[in-house]
Amino acid sequence: MEIFENPSAGSRLVPAACSPAARGPGPFPKADGRFAPSPTGPLHLGNLRTALLAWLFARSAGARFLVRVEDLDRSRVRPDVEEAQLADLRAIGLDWDGLIVRQSERIFLYEEAIARLDSDGHLYPCYCTRAEIRASASAPHGIPAADRYPGTCRELTATERAEREAAGRPPALRVRAEGARVAFEDRLLGHYEEEVDDFVVRRNDGAPAYQLAVTVDDAAQEIGEVARGADLVDSTPRQLLLAHLLGLPAVPRYAHVPLVLGPDGRRLAKRHGAVTLAEHSALGERPGEILGWMARSLGLAELGEAPLPADLLARFAPDRLPLEPTVWPPEQPRTAPPRLTAIVKTVPGSADSED
Ligand SMILES: [Zn+2]
Repeated sequence: MEIFENPSAGSRLVPAACSPAARGPGPFPKADGRFAPSPTGPLHLGNLRTALLAWLFARSAGARFLVRVEDLDRSRVRPDVEEAQLADLRAIGLDWDGLIVRQSERIFLYEEAIARLDSDGHLYPCYCTRAEIRASASAPHGIPAADRYPGTCRELTATERAEREAAGRPPALRVRAEGARVAFEDRLLGHYEEEVDDFVVRRNDGAPAYQLAVTVDDAAQEIGEVARGADLVDSTPRQLLLAHLLGLPAVPRYAHVPLVLGPDGRRLAKRHGAVTLAEHSALGERPGEILGWMARSLGLAELGEAPLPADLLARFAPDRLPLEPTVWPPEQPRTAPPRLTAIVKTVPGSADSED
């Protein structure tokens, strides 16, 4: 990781200093990995494929694989979903080390980190509503413009803050990013670099924000290798900046893996039909068949094979993974041999009578 201070928000990368500290923490020595689902709905096949990849990255390096439940957004957490997600991981043959870690049981860790950032002068209160931010933001960056903060509350005076407090608006806490640009080398995507905005570390309902909690947990759990979906790549500069500001001793390496898309080219979701293991079980497809498709989509198995995750370890090579998204359902048949009904349809002379 490299961090560049960029106070003028200008066009040039300016290293803040040449000391190791200014370049941020180095990588963890071990490749311990994790999968970190939010229990807000069932895992779809894209989530499960990402979990398989994270497992392969960790296990092929002889490292631990951990599962962390990211359940801080209490308004979206649904009962029983966590257990269903863990059952799906087991069903495709993934195992993990140690106990499940739940973010809702670790609030004190996040509060401690927020307090440290605040006492070091890295935070300020923000009273903006989402609608106000959307109306004023228009920066063309990887993070959608509506999610990038234009800095409205960065220089409020004490009087202006008091006025907003008196109006009853609870503040969020944001990081003073100072226009820092953060660069890192992704194991699959290569060089990635972005200017970090003043993002939220504590929401205005008091909950620690996603970026803060993930950064604290990855450090506390000594995660050396984060394999996660490519849609999260623009979170990484934010998390690396937090690691730098918190003075964390080490950071993970990152591999942002290609997504599974629906036939319409959008990220796989409920609107695409049967996209969960449970829905496919109801159609008579076993988890092993889904795992076989995952392995083939990653170039790790041939049609007709029924590999277990452990069979894939010897074949797994990060630099040979496909870099393009995969489409579900695949054009190739998912199962082999072909079902009997499909064969009957090809008998000469029978085709006309099929309709
Ligand atoms: Zn604001």
